[in-house]
Amino acid sequence: MENVVIIGTGCAGLTAAIYTARANLAPVVLTGTMPGGLLTTTSIVENFPGFPDGVDGYELMTRMQQQAERFGAKVKFATVDAADLSGDTVKLTVDGEPLETRTLIIATGAGHRHLGLESEKLLDKKGVTYCATCDGALPMFRNQPLVVVGGGDSACEEATYLTRFASTVYLVHRRDTLRASKIMADRTLAHPKIKPVWDSVVEEVLDVKQDKVTGVRVKNVKTDASSVINCAGLFVAIGHVPNTQLFKGQLAMDENGYLLRKEGSQTNVKGVFVAGDCSDHVYRQAVTAAGMGCAAAIDAERYLASLNR
Ligand code: NAP
Repeated sequence: MENVVIIGTGCAGLTAAIYTARANLAPVVLTGTMPGGLLTTTSIVENFPGFPDGVDGYELMTRMQQQAERFGAKVKFATVDAADLSGDTVKLTVDGEPLETRTLIIATGAGHRHLGLESEKLLDKKGVTYCATCDGALPMFRNQPLVVVGGGDSACEEATYLTRFASTVYLVHRRDTLRASKIMADRTLAHPKIKPVWDSVVEEVLDVKQDKVTGVRVKNVKTDASSVINCAGLFVAIGHVPNTQLFKGQLAMDENGYLLRKEGSQTNVKGVFVAGDCSDHVYRQAVTAAGMGCAAAIDAERYLASLNR
């Protein structure tokens, strides 16, 4: 029987791991399929306190893991298949094996939202991608026009990053103002290679017949006019969906699947705590996720102490 199992190794999970490890609770930390979480797919993180020149996202997460392991966290590359939260302890199935724990910290984060188009699905990894830092430098995108969809910080970050490789980056947004923070929006719109396409949505990714991206058909939502933008790649950056499917029917969640907290990081099930983007659609920052991970660790520690009273 474990004292603490943490699902997720983003900022929330690894901060919870650092705190519970330092409390001598020897947490088991399960990475899932994306060790380090979404931050590993970003380039330079400029707003994490303590790094005046920014820090590479992958490096930040690697350092956090090393810090947790130094105090005794056991990080395992493993995926949770099932979770039974109905008893006094939590029973997990991890890569087919049972794992029982007195407390569980869920820090499963969120994945990329998709446009939901059939052509998007069919051309996934054939020019459609959700991560500029992962794929932007591929030869197929070099010196080609590229399209980014979205109006938030992610879309601005992706568009700016892609200017290193693309001939032109079209930023397709469904409204005529960006949601992104002012500093990011200003930087993006001032870039000579970035061309905003306002009030527009992608209707179809071309060309399924050729089995590669050759363009996108966009519709102006104000005029209903359709047009084609020729491009070699489509980078979708329209937000995220929480990774909480595993807990459907067992944990309280809102209509979008974000886990609800009762008090502090406590869920509606005793001994089960949440942290980070799987429970936060408001702030969604690396530093707030880390703060939530810290809170969940302290709550788990106090809960374990209360069991022995
Ligand atoms: P976001 O802020 O939720 O923005 C999503 C964007 O996609 C919005 O502009 C939205 O349009 C658009 N959108 C949503 N669904 C769409 C659909 N079906 N079709 C077309 N467009 C759609 O998400 P995000 O940009 O990923 O940012 C998430 C959080 O991470 C934010 O808190 C952000 O500040 C943070 N972040 C920070 C940094 C940084 O500081 N370096 C970098 C990346 C992300 P509307 O505007 O019309 O709703």
